[in-house]
Amino acid sequence: MNVKIQLLKEMINESKKIVFFGGAGVSTESGIKDFRSADGIYMMDYKYPPESVLSHSFYVQHTAEFYDFYREYLCFPDAKPNMAHFKLAELEQSGKLKAVITQNVDGLHQLAGSKTVYELHGSALRNYCVKCGKSHDFDFVYKSNGIPKCECGGTVKPDVVLYEESLNDEVVSGAIKAIKKADMLIVAGTSLTVYPAAGFIRYFKGKNLVLINKDATAMDENFGLVIHGKVGEVLREAV
Ligand code: NAD
Ligand code: ZN
Repeated sequence: MNVKIQLLKEMINESKKIVFFGGAGVSTESGIKDFRSADGIYMMDYKYPPESVLSHSFYVQHTAEFYDFYREYLCFPDAKPNMAHFKLAELEQSGKLKAVITQNVDGLHQLAGSKTVYELHGSALRNYCVKCGKSHDFDFVYKSNGIPKCECGGTVKPDVVLYEESLNDEVVSGAIKAIKKADMLIVAGTSLTVYPAAGFIRYFKGKNLVLINKDATAMDENFGLVIHGKVGEVLREAV
């Protein structure tokens, strides 16, 4: 076994309050594209830059085009959890892992069995009418055409945090509390460029700070252990 993975395994063995902080790279092994990899959504030749399509102002000004993009690139009806999701659920079950904090909106951690999941950017599985507040399921939005409309006539909006929108206070405070109490923080599959989420790592005061990421990030030097690899493959070996 590779020395770094052996070290990760030892860290996991000695830790009692592990928190996992992940991003889009955690779901690429489930066939979901991330944003910033070479084959990610940001490299595509789309008529608007993805950052602007996923902003609140674009949603307001070009609502129908927002939903076209959203259905195509942020809805994953057939995605299944991968080894990363399953190994984290297993670590929680054994009592070692206290929380998963995710920037993803795909719901795959819960599908794999994780219970304490802080979804910093919401979930595509929840959708609400902006007029009457009625909740609608994934298929309601995914299978609709144009702008999804509630029976009351209001627009049904996914519970996904767009650029320019603020994160849910309860989710943020739960996530920060978990990080502050952790003795090990595993950060994985994230370019650490989306704020405020990426900044939450600074609350970690524990011993073992690990990064598992396919590509290097601008924050690599802040981590005690950096493994450049696929998170599903690494966790399969280490857990
Ligand atoms: P990002 O696209 O900016 O970065 C992904 C990072 O993951 C890259 O650095 C890449 O090298 C790495 N990576 C890709 N596959 C990996 C793997 N198998 N193992 C380890 N590392 C891998 O993603 P981000 O930092 O999460 O920021 C993008 C924003 O868009 C977030 O809010 C994100 O959740 C959202 N988004 C969500 C989904 C989803 O719900 N699955 C998909 C795309 C984007
Ligand atoms: Zn309604």
